[in-house]
Amino acid sequence: MREPFRNEPFTDFGVSDNIADFQAALAQVEAELGREYKLKIGADWIETTNKRKSLNPSQYTQMIGLVSQGDEEHAHKAILAAAAAFEGWKRVPAQARARVLYKAAALLRRRKHEFSAWLVYEAGKSWAEADGDTAEAIDFMEFYGREMERLSERQPLVPLAGEDNELVYLPLGVGIIIPPWNFPLAIMVGMTMAAVVAGNTVVLKPASPTAVIAAKFMELLEDAGLPAGVVNFLPGAGGEIGDFLVEHTLTRFVCFTGSREVGLRINEKAAATRPDQKWIKRVMAEMGGKDTIIVDEDADLDLAADAITASAFGYSGQKCSACSRAVVHEAVYDEVLGKVVERTLALRMGKAAEQSTYIGPVIDERAYIQILKYIEIGRSEATLVCGGNMGSSSGYYIEPTIFKDVGPYAVIAQEEIFGPVLAFIKAANFEAALDIANNTEYGLTGAVISRNRSRLEQAREQFHVGNLYFNRKCTGALVGVHPFGGFNMSGTDSKAGGRDYLLLFTQPKVVSERF
Ligand code: GLU
Repeated sequence: MREPFRNEPFTDFGVSDNIADFQAALAQVEAELGREYKLKIGADWIETTNKRKSLNPSQYTQMIGLVSQGDEEHAHKAILAAAAAFEGWKRVPAQARARVLYKAAALLRRRKHEFSAWLVYEAGKSWAEADGDTAEAIDFMEFYGREMERLSERQPLVPLAGEDNELVYLPLGVGIIIPPWNFPLAIMVGMTMAAVVAGNTVVLKPASPTAVIAAKFMELLEDAGLPAGVVNFLPGAGGEIGDFLVEHTLTRFVCFTGSREVGLRINEKAAATRPDQKWIKRVMAEMGGKDTIIVDEDADLDLAADAITASAFGYSGQKCSACSRAVVHEAVYDEVLGKVVERTLALRMGKAAEQSTYIGPVIDERAYIQILKYIEIGRSEATLVCGGNMGSSSGYYIEPTIFKDVGPYAVIAQEEIFGPVLAFIKAANFEAALDIANNTEYGLTGAVISRNRSRLEQAREQFHVGNLYFNRKCTGALVGVHPFGGFNMSGTDSKAGGRDYLLLFTQPKVVSERF
């Protein structure tokens, strides 16, 4: 039997050998910056005339890579290549498909710091955040490989005398994979390889700001022996090729992680049936969050402050799981706010490649402008306690920002900001805190910090989010441990890294033979 799944350990950057290894990886990647990256359709790497620069958000004069951009014609070819490869790949036994994932995981583990270094440069992740992203990518492949092996075993059915009954999980066909830039390795790998291990073939349209990391993974898949055409690589502007990919007749499913706006658009486009279309397209969409940490009156306040600070400002709040609202019982509100501010002021902002950096830049100019706009809105509707300013102008730096006395229905308490902006909201009692926590259109993560068992039980039932945490931060879901995904406008209720996830990429067939 295969070894049971275990999460990839995080690197201890307190160990000097690890620091030296990571610095060496950063130097190696820095020497490789500025290269060109192509599309991959079937077995061919294709250079296009239209290219997009991927920039280092820590220092945007530095180019990470120059990435060929696909147009509709490329998109059409990529879908045809995927459709052709599907005929072969769907017949490859599940165990053999899983082995490609184990091999890719082994290759990635061997080049772990190198991939993390790409994340530092291209996504502006701190060392620890980058290391976590790479570890999660390894986890997804190890986990989904085992999941596919489990699903390929004989499935339990109620016995019927005189009949042989069998249920098998078949793949769906050609999928479009549209991952986000905020976990450009982990989530991209998870979405792509879940589809692939289940026997589907895909067109991967990477997030534009982080297309180089995705290109690196494409190279790794080739080394792992994945047959040509199973994953077709199509960087390009969402506005140009997104609708085309979703609307194509041969598209069988779309797996998306990103904003609510784009997710809803994909859902609508995918729902329209074309005359020559044979199936109802399936959409898996993981969208935003407006996540709350509730602090009860009897909570451990240092624990609360640690949890809020880490959840709000890790990767500058650019996680759909990030805590953007601290809803605090009025009896401890001032004290918790003071402790969070104290911790926040101690966070070091700087270039992601520097080891001491906790707050790196935000991803790009668009995000930068959008977040600053929300900070202006915050100034008009609440009281700024700390932050609120831009950092060094060589990159997209925004100080970790806290507003207090924010109304439960204020704009900054309702809309996803996806940046380092935290709203403190006062609650008169625990019931009121729960009401506020549930008052957005999202339902992704949440946390309750309390020592009161009956209140924890009440929250267990009433706090309506897909991932609810008690007495800890609300970010950092681990594959297999915390299957991840939310309710309402947070998505289609899928759980990445959970036992149900692969079922989304399959269709079950039952064969009954009367003896
Ligand atoms: N899974 C991540 C976490 O638990 C968040 C993923 C996302 O931001 O899309 O923090």
